[in-house]
Formats: sequence, structure tokens, C-alpha cells
Amino acid sequence: MLNHDPNTYKLLTPGPLTTSLTVREAMLVDRCTWDDDYKRMTQEIRAELLKLAHCGDDFTTVLMQGSGTFGVESVLSSLPGAKDHVLVLVNGAYSERMCQILARHKVAFSRIDFAWDETPDARVVEAHLARHPEVTHVSMVHNETTTGILNDVASVAKVVKAAERIMIVDAMSSFGAVDVDMPALGIDVLISSANKCIQGVPGFSFIICRRSVIEAAEGNARTVSLDLYDQWRVLEKDAGKWRFTSPTHVVAAFRQALRELDLEGGVAARAARYARSNRRLREGMEALGFKPYVGPEHQGPIITTFFYPSDDFRFPELYAALKAKGYVIYPGKLTQKETFRLGNIGEIYDEDVEKILALFADVVRNRR
Ligand SMILES: *Cc1c(COP(=O)(O)O)cnc(C)c1O
Repeated sequence: MLNHDPNTYKLLTPGPLTTSLTVREAMLVDRCTWDDDYKRMTQEIRAELLKLAHCGDDFTTVLMQGSGTFGVESVLSSLPGAKDHVLVLVNGAYSERMCQILARHKVAFSRIDFAWDETPDARVVEAHLARHPEVTHVSMVHNETTTGILNDVASVAKVVKAAERIMIVDAMSSFGAVDVDMPALGIDVLISSANKCIQGVPGFSFIICRRSVIEAAEGNARTVSLDLYDQWRVLEKDAGKWRFTSPTHVVAAFRQALRELDLEGGVAARAARYARSNRRLREGMEALGFKPYVGPEHQGPIITTFFYPSDDFRFPELYAALKAKGYVIYPGKLTQKETFRLGNIGEIYDEDVEKILALFADVVRNRR
């Protein structure tokens, strides 16, 4: 611990996250984007993602260059048509960003705001949809990485489906960490990215979409590079060739990451590891006097927000002290309150969790 290389540290951040050496090694080869072996790699990934989401042939996967936000923007600027209206359920910075994207592209939308430490209430959504026939799509975040709250997508999707609207879910930081059965839940469109719980490196996002929904979106896109329909059409027509230059190294790393998810025992095993780490971190930090922002009933298994323990608490000092010991933590994202966050996704195991808690115990001791 004391003698570790100062240029290497483990990430307690929710993406990019700490990846395995073998995932990183998959990037040591340069690949040609229109080569058949490479295109097969793309197709393998697309098929595997469908399987992870429990989808059959009535769903399809689109890979999109860029970080997760590019995937969200691609969906929100490509799927709604000129007469459509999106309802956004807001309880954190990422659902707030959805509104920003819709406003920028001049897509008609409205929002229902919920407290950031509360999950969107399906009864409120149900009543809203009954009064607002103009709403065609409902969009929400699954795990709000802003706070670490795990929203109840199942109850919301149920009322959205009963009202026959299209359900869009940003499952960026939950897909791979929480089992998401899209058809059973009634999710039509799901967005996630390479550098979250599948444990790949940053460089592309992916969209799992009901075929009928994407087929109906031809010509709706407000941009060229983020045109979801066009991206999908080329991937299908050219059997795995991306429309524009694809991040070949990232794609290779992602395929390796998918194989390692399978070796770990699939989503169930990964979910159990994350949940165990999260529970232990939360309990251990509470025992040291750090109070979490989200109540235990809504806490997701990926990241936890803690209040500063006192007014004289300095995040930069804490950050530097922990980085010197090999771990990098995350600042808070709440505007009202001073907080910091600890993520526990990626290659973080029980021994890391115990080391992190020991480091925080040192921090607390040194402050006395
Ligand atoms: C990471 C994340 C995103 C995308 O963020 P990028 O910085 O663009 O990768 C979107 N939504 C949620 C919930 C996320 O956790």
C-alpha cells in the first residue's frame, strides 16, 4: 500500500472505473473497421447486450460513439417526431440533463420534479398521463448516479405501458449491476455505456431499443452524427460496420469485459458483489460518523453520497490523502449541500473495501 506507484490508483468513481488488466490488454491490437473479424466483434457485442436485457428479436442494439450523454442525446433527439412530447421524471442531475437536451433540440417536453432523495412516484405519473394525452414518451433515470438513489423503474414502466406510451430509461450506471428484464418491465428504450457496470473503458454508449420504435423514427433526427436510426440502419445493412470511425480499441476491450462478466457468473454474481461492497462501505462509513444522503430504503448498489462530517471538512485534502494511498474518490454533485461520493463498481473487491475503510478511520483519527 505505502509503496504503490503514484501514477496508478483504483477508481472509486462511477465510470470510468477500475478495469481488469485483461480488459486493458485487449486494446493492444490495432483493428480495421471494415474487416470481417472486427465486424463480427461488433455483432457479438450487439447480440450479447440483447441477451443481458432478456430481449428477443423484437429488440435491437445500436452502438454509438461518445460517452453516455451522447447516447442519451442520440435517443432524445432521434426518436420523438415533430408532433411528439416527452415527459421527464426529474430527481437528479442526469434527468435534469435530459431536459437540457430536449430544450436544445426544441423537442416538446414537460417535467415532473421529485425530491432528489425520493424516487419518482408511479401514482403521480399515472395521474399526469391521464390528464395529458399529448405525452407520447416518458423518460427517466434508473440509478441516479448524482446521489446513488435507485429509482423504481418497474412501477413507473407499468403505468406508462398501461397508458400506451413509450418508456425510455437511462440505465447508464445500473445495466450490468442490476438485472434489467426489458420486455417484462415494459421498457422500450434503454441507454447505457461502455465504461460503467459492464466494466469496459470509455468511448461508446449503447442503446437497446424495441424494433418497432426505431423503425418508426426514420427522418426524425435533429443531427447527423447522433442519428440513431441511421446508425442502426448501417449496423444492420453492413453486418456490424459502424457508420463513422468506431473506437476499435474500446470495442475490443468491451467484448473482453462482456466475457469477464460472464466468467464472474453474470449479472446476478456481479450484482451480489456490488451490493455487498456497497453495504459494507455504507455501514463502515456510518460507524466512522459519516452520514449518507440517501436513506437505506432507496440506496442503490453502485455509489453512495456522504455529507461532509463537519464545516471545516476539506474535500481536496481528503482526495489527496486517499490518492497517495492508491484510491481516488468523487466530489458530490448536490447544489444545496456539501457532500462527497464513494463508488464501488469496477474491479473493487472486499479487500479494497476494508482498505478504504481503514484509510477513512485514519482520516477521522488525524482530525481529532
Ligand atoms: C455516467 C452517466 C451518464 C453519462 O455520463 P457521461 O459523462 O456522458 O458518460 C448518464 N446518466 C447516468 C445516470 C450516468 O451515471
